Amino acid sequence: MSIRSFYSPVIALLFLLAASSVLADWHTDTRDIMGTRITVEVWSDDAELASQCMGKVFTEMHRIDALMSPWKEDSELALINREAASHPVKIGTELYRLIQQSQKISELSGGAFDITFASIGYLYDYRKGIRPSDSEIADKIDAINYRHIRLNPQDNTVAFDKQGVRIDLGGIAKGYAVENGIRILHECGISNALVSAGGDTRLLGDKVGRPWMTGIQHPRKRPGVAVVLPLSDAAISTSGDYERFFIDNGERHHHIISPKTGKSVSETISATVIGPNALMTDALSTTLFILGAEKGLPLIETLQEFDAIIIDASGKMHYSKGLLPPEQ
Ligand code: ADP
Ligand code: MG
Repeated sequence: MSIRSFYSPVIALLFLLAASSVLADWHTDTRDIMGTRITVEVWSDDAELASQCMGKVFTEMHRIDALMSPWKEDSELALINREAASHPVKIGTELYRLIQQSQKISELSGGAFDITFASIGYLYDYRKGIRPSDSEIADKIDAINYRHIRLNPQDNTVAFDKQGVRIDLGGIAKGYAVENGIRILHECGISNALVSAGGDTRLLGDKVGRPWMTGIQHPRKRPGVAVVLPLSDAAISTSGDYERFFIDNGERHHHIISPKTGKSVSETISATVIGPNALMTDALSTTLFILGAEKGLPLIETLQEFDAIIIDASGKMHYSKGLLPPEQ
């Protein structure tokens, strides 16, 4: 084979690759689903395909919302909350597994993450500035305990061993949905993408040749960024006291509830977790918000693939070891 005839197909291939990456572009879409803003960004040279794939992600978010919203009467989650204190309720494998995962994170966090927070949590309405009175809290606080949830893997049932127990997956479901969204895009043939739902973001690949520059919202300046992290193929979740809150008599009441007190946590103002999986970073960011830097950082150090940044009530930033320069 002459050198020329050997190289010409290679050159043609290089030309094609160059042409396709020139034609490729970012496609972005947003929707309001699950009570939050969903953003999808994909890199593709096929606008039609990009739009189809993004549509599938939004369909998935609607499906998860219909299954797990505590506010939709016909969701499986609402069924559990209505009936599980009276008798075991049979549910689908998907919700069963997510409750199981939540229970594992409750164990891991020493009870800081606890989906039965909703036994009191449902009495808050942040938009209307409504919160439970101290006597209502005292009355219901015993219902908050993940050990009240009885899971039976033989028949996929869930039961509560106490009246008044309610669950809510708001601390984990968005991460789960984001993770599923990225899986759908990958199956759709996309290699570089971002899916985010409120404070939970999962990145597929890099930003074509460079990392994604991911900003963590400044908890008190809006718009404002507290720190920017270069990330690829990673998940990042932030829990903050500035998302859903109201201020009453100078006191901030927000949506992250201590299972011990039934009230919002005031030692932390922002907790971010970075790791390989959005389901975990979501649940862990809520967990670290509740635990605070002193207890939360030692926990994250036990989880090899995860890092964290916690901003305490004084505004001080605390980093896990993986984000600090190596010790001299
Ligand atoms: P968001 O992305 O909605 O801001 P976060 O990851 O910060 O969510 O988690 C806050 C949500 O977690 C709350 O809206 C509530 O649904 C749920 N939650 C609040 N307290 C707890 C808790 N102690 N354990 C588990 N989930 C909680
Ligand atoms: Mg979270």
